Amino acid sequence: MEKVRAKKHLGQHFLKDLDAAKRIVDLYQDKNGNKLLLEIGPGMGVLTQYLVGRKELDLVLVEIDTESVVYLKKHFSFPEEKIIEGDFLKMEFDKTLQLAENQKFGIIGNFPYNISSQIFFKVLEHKDQIEEIVGMVQKEVGQRIASKHGNKDYGILSVLLQAFYDIEYSFTVLPGAFNPPPKVDSGVIRLVRNYDKVLDCDFKKFKLVVKTAFNQRRKMLSNALKPITNRADLPYANKRAEQLDYLQFVELTKLIFEMD
Ligand code: SAH
Repeated sequence: MEKVRAKKHLGQHFLKDLDAAKRIVDLYQDKNGNKLLLEIGPGMGVLTQYLVGRKELDLVLVEIDTESVVYLKKHFSFPEEKIIEGDFLKMEFDKTLQLAENQKFGIIGNFPYNISSQIFFKVLEHKDQIEEIVGMVQKEVGQRIASKHGNKDYGILSVLLQAFYDIEYSFTVLPGAFNPPPKVDSGVIRLVRNYDKVLDCDFKKFKLVVKTAFNQRRKMLSNALKPITNRADLPYANKRAEQLDYLQFVELTKLIFEMD
């Protein structure tokens, strides 16, 4: 790899461990044969070089850093429209990816850690288009997203994502695998959309209940949910947010908003 001048504000930590890179790429299964795969933040193309070997995939890259885009154009023979210079968070999928109606796609990347939560909130906005995600994030974030209810690190993103996706924490990558090394350990997670999981309430209201409950996560739900309800007969009133699975949050949402 050429000498790198990583831009910290863009979360640039380039993976140099090629085995880890291969493992990440191998985790992506594209079971439903969507073909279309968006790589977020390809940087110097460490994952990209293995992804292009998978001819069954139709790969599109989105990278915010001009210098990386120039590098990628020089080293890979992608048609112009497959390398998008821009911000993933601002991307309009339908337009930029020229999605056909009902077309679904996947996401892969060694994500910029400073925006990994925002990436997953955007995934949630497009949960019916995005079927599979393989991503490297800060280890704690990955563990939190995959964490089951009853655990200390179970939080807002765990509930929201688990309501739609089957999630597994796959493996840990240590700082020495990157150039420059980040201060934290990293973890790779895989999410697969599970259509058996049908949210039996309005998503916005569900999100509001989950966020409100975790806002004061140490309090019992009877107190934590005061900002949105004063029902005396609230189920799980003496439990805390981290003790409930997504179905129990659905139950709460329906009671608070839909059956009054
Ligand atoms: N995939 C590469 C680089 C990972 S570092 C590797 O594994 O080595 C994260 C990358 O995300 C950087 O290249 C950075 O420029 C890019 N990036 C940061 N913010 C972004 C955003 N909002 N949209 C798209 N790419 C972004």
